[in-house]
Amino acid sequence: MAEVIFLGTASALPTLTQENSYLVLSGDEHATLVDCAGSPYRQLLQAELDLRRLDSLILTHFHPDHVYGLPALLIALWLTGRSAPLHLHATAEVLASAQRLIALFQPEKWPGMLTLHPHVIPDKPGAAVLANSDFEIMAAPVRHIIPTIGLRVVNRRSGAALAYSSDTEPCAAVSLLAGQASLLIHEASGATMGHSTAEQAGRIAQEAGAERLVLTHYDSAETPPAILQREARKTFTGPIHVAQDIDRFTW
Ligand SMILES: [Zn+2]
Repeated sequence: MAEVIFLGTASALPTLTQENSYLVLSGDEHATLVDCAGSPYRQLLQAELDLRRLDSLILTHFHPDHVYGLPALLIALWLTGRSAPLHLHATAEVLASAQRLIALFQPEKWPGMLTLHPHVIPDKPGAAVLANSDFEIMAAPVRHIIPTIGLRVVNRRSGAALAYSSDTEPCAAVSLLAGQASLLIHEASGATMGHSTAEQAGRIAQEAGAERLVLTHYDSAETPPAILQREARKTFTGPIHVAQDIDRFTW
């Protein structure tokens, strides 16, 4: 079974009940984190994810609200005695920044620290990210304030696809990633530069022929879930969910 579990759903400003946006893709044998904010170990416990399956992490861009949990994840895994390696996937620039962030904590001095294997995601549409027995993941540059990628994740057992916009203005790249997808996860931060409204997310889902739309990365004080639902309904005819932390969806 392939599940996506929302570990955080807030836009850049977290709330009492929402961490910043990140999620985990959980398959039968492998799990992949997408971004790493908040308190990742605690949220993964809440999600009841078997950490032995967590073998890869994809960073979509290097804004603080998407990456600041990375050192905390590493020390937590170290404290649990984890020795299996972790594969870190990002575009070259993001990978270099993440490695600088990690290096500040001198992990080479932590006895028995797991090995991080870096993998560069080419900065082009349809870039291959990773493939294992559960998932085949590809990326495409989207339109945010800094270089950012969106993802398409194919469940290799069913052939169904999930797409994730990451942070972006409405753009053709997300429509392509979301083509006939079973599930489109789209941000709904609002009408600010580099972001999208729920109505725009709905339009992308509709044009792409996605079956379901899940909104994330939203400011619940400014636009409560009921309002986001209503906005997205103007443009999308399929089922709409507004994600809360630890919500899970299969695809
Ligand atoms: Zn963000």
